[in-house]
Amino acid sequence: MLDLSQLSFDFSALPHWVPFRTVRALKPEPPAEVSADEPILDGRDAALEEQTRAMLLALDMPGGAKLVTVTWNARLRSTAGYARYPGWAIELNPKLREFEGQVERTLKHELAHLIAYHRSGRKRIEPHGSEWRQACADLGIAGEKAQHRLPLPRNEVERKLTYACPVCHTTVQRVRKFRRPTACLQCCNRHAGGKYDSRFRLALVAQG
Ligand SMILES: [Zn+2]
Ligand SMILES: [Zn+2]
Repeated sequence: MLDLSQLSFDFSALPHWVPFRTVRALKPEPPAEVSADEPILDGRDAALEEQTRAMLLALDMPGGAKLVTVTWNARLRSTAGYARYPGWAIELNPKLREFEGQVERTLKHELAHLIAYHRSGRKRIEPHGSEWRQACADLGIAGEKAQHRLPLPRNEVERKLTYACPVCHTTVQRVRKFRRPTACLQCCNRHAGGKYDSRFRLALVAQG
């Protein structure tokens, strides 16, 4: 029996890396949400940065370890992550957290781009060429694919559930129900110092 829910995802290869010279306009996403037992999904992530620094130090790149930043970007849509060099900046899509193992995998994939560029100096290299593949191997993800296939919801048409903030009435579209109490990020930022606050808990207002 064909599982129709499988069809609502785009399994095609997604571009997830853009060279630092490329300027790309990002369409704004609907406001993100924040869960009671999860950190904020926007902004820098100290724990991931520490993990990334340790990986760079292990590969004898103290300069990169000093500079590297890891940031959640809730405005990314179907893009899993970006790496910007020489800025040593990695951006990750918060939706990666919905999929087991994808945060670490994408982090390493993007870090491998930074390592490959760093090692190559002024030499021009292919984004997913041999230098990148070597860096992947060094990070323990040998055989990593040049493009991720992530089951990210493709667009609003496929999103069946509508949640709303009881205070600002902003709506959020979802494919699946929230597994944890989840609040409006905008209101939590504005009135609760960015922390989860049950006053702004999102309520299911429409289905289908
Ligand atoms: Zn890549
Ligand atoms: Zn709100």
